[in-house]
Amino acid sequence: MIWFTEYWTENVGLTVKAHEVKRIKSKYQEILVLDTPEFGKMLILDGLVQTTERDEFIYHEMLAHPALVMHPQPERVLVIGGGDGGTVREILKHPSVKEVHLCEIDEEVIIVAEKYFPTISEKLRDPRVKIFIEDGNEFLQERKGYYDVVIMDSSDPVGASEVLFKEPFYQKVKQSLRENGIMVAQTESPVLQEKYFAGAYREIRKVFRNVGVYLAYVPTYPSGMWSFTIASDYIDVKDTSRNRERVKELKTKYFCDNIYACLFALPQFVQEILKKS
Ligand code: SAM
Repeated sequence: MIWFTEYWTENVGLTVKAHEVKRIKSKYQEILVLDTPEFGKMLILDGLVQTTERDEFIYHEMLAHPALVMHPQPERVLVIGGGDGGTVREILKHPSVKEVHLCEIDEEVIIVAEKYFPTISEKLRDPRVKIFIEDGNEFLQERKGYYDVVIMDSSDPVGASEVLFKEPFYQKVKQSLRENGIMVAQTESPVLQEKYFAGAYREIRKVFRNVGVYLAYVPTYPSGMWSFTIASDYIDVKDTSRNRERVKELKTKYFCDNIYACLFALPQFVQEILKKS
């Protein structure tokens, strides 16, 4: 057993007791798989926790379902990043979905997920799913007016992910959407990564007419409080009276009717950050 620490800032981190299962260096990053008594297997990229068997459902459900529920009839969905497969698994719970494209820059993440995280990656080989090993920013260059929902399931805004948090990228996302299209992005922790959180919100607002921010509690992400930003030019994304009946049909463990109803209830300090940005 070792003690592994993920540094959340220079001053604080998350420490877990673990067995090291696998460590490889891909072209893009160091991929580490740990087995821990509390959180089961953990996927770590360049020292940062991406997902764990114990709490992955919270992040993946909250990233995927609000946008898919709000769309009148989502058929074509794109995930950028998300090589562990958890977001794809959630998307396929929506019966109207016919096609899911997953654009992940690092094939090794998919290989590791399929070997060590079978419950997370289980739907990656579903016939509706097509995997592209490409940079999300370049992939979108050739895709215009195609998707109903685009989901950014990217790592923190450093290295290969940095471009995915900037206005020119969100412009490409907007162009890739067809009528009624919605995008949603994971946008970091308002507590420990206020700069990234506020920055992503500001950039998304430059591009989309309707923008909303919601939160979920993910124990293994910095501070636990995690944000998601949802946006559309067509749909009032803050109207959670829409398609309520579809929420009840989903088999989920975190996202539910009550959470959907008050999705945009934000703590006062988070509202203040958004007002300032
Ligand atoms: N849930 C995670 C989080 O917030 O910590 C994100 C998980 S997911 C595994 C992130 C993925 O995004 C990684 O597998 C990484 O390789 C991929 N990624 C990073 N930059 C990318 C880019 N420019 N295009 C496509 N995928 C990218």
